[in-house]
Amino acid sequence: MANRPRKQERLTPREVVARIVQIVSQQETTKFCPHCGKHVLALRPGTSRLRQVLLTIVTAGLWLVAWIVDAVRRPGWRCSVCDHRVG
Ligand SMILES: [Zn+2]
Repeated sequence: MANRPRKQERLTPREVVARIVQIVSQQETTKFCPHCGKHVLALRPGTSRLRQVLLTIVTAGLWLVAWIVDAVRRPGWRCSVCDHRVG
């Protein structure tokens, strides 16, 4: 049996866009988590205004409520391990 070269994984343009949006909309850093007692990967939801505005338009203003609630509820970094607030 001959070794066939592996088929290259191809991403559709849609998947590429989704990946970029994910990278842009979520920020990562390393923070010290007092709950875990060590440095962990911290995640923060991005502040993509364009996306929020688009969603607000698409949902006829409904998203604006979710946007405000979201901004008030999750203002900062969260530990990726225990989900406690860090930093
Ligand atoms: Zn933690």
